[in-house]
Amino acid sequence: QNYCNPVGQIKDTCCDFQSVEDMQRGIFDKIQDLVKTRFFRYYKLNLWRECPFWDEDGLCMNKDCSVETTDESRLPKEWTQEALSAVQMSPAGLGFQPFKACSYKDQDYCLIEDQSNENVVYVNLLDNPERFTGYAGVSAGRVWKAIYEENCFNIVHKMTEGCKTCNNMMNIAGSAGNPLKVAEKVQQTVKEVGPGFAHVPKDTEKLDQLLSDLSETTDGGENDEEVCLEKRVYYRLISGLHSSISLHICDEWFNRTSGEWGPNLDCFVNRIGSHPERLQNVYFTYALVLRAVTKAGHFLDQYDFYTGDDKEDIKVKSMVHDLIDNASSCAPTFDEKTMFQGPDAKALKLEFRDHFRNVSRIMDCVGCEKCRLWGKIQTTGLGTALKVLFSYEDNQLNPKRTPQLLQRSEIVAMFNTLNRLSESLRAIQRFRKMYLDQVEEA
Ligand code: FAD
Repeated sequence: QNYCNPVGQIKDTCCDFQSVEDMQRGIFDKIQDLVKTRFFRYYKLNLWRECPFWDEDGLCMNKDCSVETTDESRLPKEWTQEALSAVQMSPAGLGFQPFKACSYKDQDYCLIEDQSNENVVYVNLLDNPERFTGYAGVSAGRVWKAIYEENCFNIVHKMTEGCKTCNNMMNIAGSAGNPLKVAEKVQQTVKEVGPGFAHVPKDTEKLDQLLSDLSETTDGGENDEEVCLEKRVYYRLISGLHSSISLHICDEWFNRTSGEWGPNLDCFVNRIGSHPERLQNVYFTYALVLRAVTKAGHFLDQYDFYTGDDKEDIKVKSMVHDLIDNASSCAPTFDEKTMFQGPDAKALKLEFRDHFRNVSRIMDCVGCEKCRLWGKIQTTGLGTALKVLFSYEDNQLNPKRTPQLLQRSEIVAMFNTLNRLSESLRAIQRFRKMYLDQVEEA
């Protein structure tokens, strides 16, 4: 069938496949050049935070899993640990504000690393490309499962409806806790305390059913059931990220027999090409992130891209401007104003944000350094895109008025995520050609 050649409208966006591909081809080189610059190629993060949800059995020891870190002496001195710990005010003007202590600001959709924490390191992303590492099996499967389980909106809330005991437990476990664990705790308490007692819901059968819904297999969301737009968008983003990671693995596959790196068509067809929803979700995720980048255009236009070299700062600023200018010349790819409009909008938005925060915490459970690095960057990138789209009106995105809105790491993550998605769309087009060539030859 029409592997990898989708046509028509991309669901839940404002555009069709063809126009997104045209746009992606138009700005591909610009994004590629941008992420190579000094400002965008260095990312700071804590790679070794403990998994908060389960005992992870240790890191993958394969050399392709490891990450090469960068010696801070090669970086602008204002970026270094010492400077970040000591200085609270930017020497480089109002727009350069990379130092704020880590905590969730209300609007954040993911955990932003504390840039002055001694456990964080700089990584040169160009030296650590995301590609096949051999990380697979139980550990990788468990992480993906946990990520998809975050998609179970409302289920935990439904379970605890009118149940003060359970609500207290949820508070103790933390709304940022893994909902599956929270749900299990709630159910255990219900059983221990007994149905109908005090504030415990009466219907234990309903609770059993809800728990089993919660544990549904990951691909459950691929059926286009009657689910609200917000939940669909959430699922599409996660699935799009998953497809994009799979695409990079298939595109830069290590053939153990020949000892060579190269694209693996079978891998692509099995993991993505033969699943139209997975394929569509990469386009969806690209369209959403691109819209966020253009929406942040005004903010970025006035942001100081501080690199320690005046000429380079100006160059990066102008490259960002040029990219956004080009992307904005097309119609917006995603309409964020259609979301969070119903009567439960406020609660749903908070839930959406909390679930996404959890996904970023789950990244600490990825058992391969390189995969963890890119998992963290891309969830931060998606989280930043969501924050830009849903937390602010256009006129609030002004660095002079609200300089703390986006930290350097968020901007770096958002553009690198856009680049990875852009490379995924490029890989799909290449695989399409390989597939057609193969069919012709047969
Ligand atoms: P998986 O990709 O593990 O998928 C598990 C299940 O999820 C599938 O069986 C299917 O039911 C469902 N599923 C698959 N794709 C989708 C989709 N797009 N939408 C919805 N459901 C889907 N490996 C590397 O080699 N390099 C990396 O850089 C890398 N980065 C990773 C980053 C993260 C955050 C994680 C969790 C894993 C990473 N891995 C990486 C491992 C890789 O993603 C796979 O888990 C591994 O290759 C095994 O693949 P699999 O075919 O068993 O299915």
